[in-house]
Amino acid sequence: MNGPRIHVTFAPELRRFPAPERREGATPVVTDGSSTLGHVVESLGVPLTEVGRLLVNGRPLPVSYVPGPGDMVEVRAVDRPQRVPGAPLRFLLDVHLGRLARRLRLLGVDAAYQSADPGDPALAARSAAERRVMLSRDRGLLRRRELWAGAYVYSDRPDEQLRDVLGRFAPRLAPWTRCTACNGPLVAADKETVRPRLEQGTLLTQDVFAQCADCGRVYWRGAHHARLTRIVEDAVAEFGGASPAGEGAPSSAGRHAPPS
Ligand SMILES: [Zn+2]
Repeated sequence: MNGPRIHVTFAPELRRFPAPERREGATPVVTDGSSTLGHVVESLGVPLTEVGRLLVNGRPLPVSYVPGPGDMVEVRAVDRPQRVPGAPLRFLLDVHLGRLARRLRLLGVDAAYQSADPGDPALAARSAAERRVMLSRDRGLLRRRELWAGAYVYSDRPDEQLRDVLGRFAPRLAPWTRCTACNGPLVAADKETVRPRLEQGTLLTQDVFAQCADCGRVYWRGAHHARLTRIVEDAVAEFGGASPAGEGAPSSAGRHAPPS
């Protein structure tokens, strides 16, 4: 390209995305003279889902601005907490984020996830149809225009991913109210109703149950409860929301795998 030469500076939070030689300071970029600023930023490897304000020569301008010769562009990161207007806050996670999905559900956050990969076009279409924020570490998926909204997940460790998402979007927490297996709502269930689904040992030791209204799975205070409680208490202490359920309340430590 031999169009206008501009300089681009990225906020520290965004420096992981561009090529190494473009991460520090104001790096020169030659544009084609017709591409928008959004396109230029994206072509440097930075997902627009991660971009907050764009300052051109100190003035905030939209992604549709076409940069001209000598422009000094400063790319800021999204504000935290980030507001996603227009719909209740809910998420859609890609196939690699199953452990994060279970943690979000444990906290009562609406987190759709399928272990069978439906493919990027189907995920993007679902994000749009259900107005869900697409969470992914795949920059190609986050570039899809159909997305309702999207966010890059910065860590590859589930506990850090959880803190990232909770800190970024500040969802309302309602621990122990959602099925960690399917994302459905949990409702209180009496022992006689759930008896056919339980093993003898569980029936002898447990009296308080909850059941998923969607998939029918039964939950009780099980062997994993202490670890799940710690995840909930840590999240509530740092990010607010409702108190964890008190002693004796049904919890999502059931017969299926808890967050791992
Ligand atoms: Zn369920």
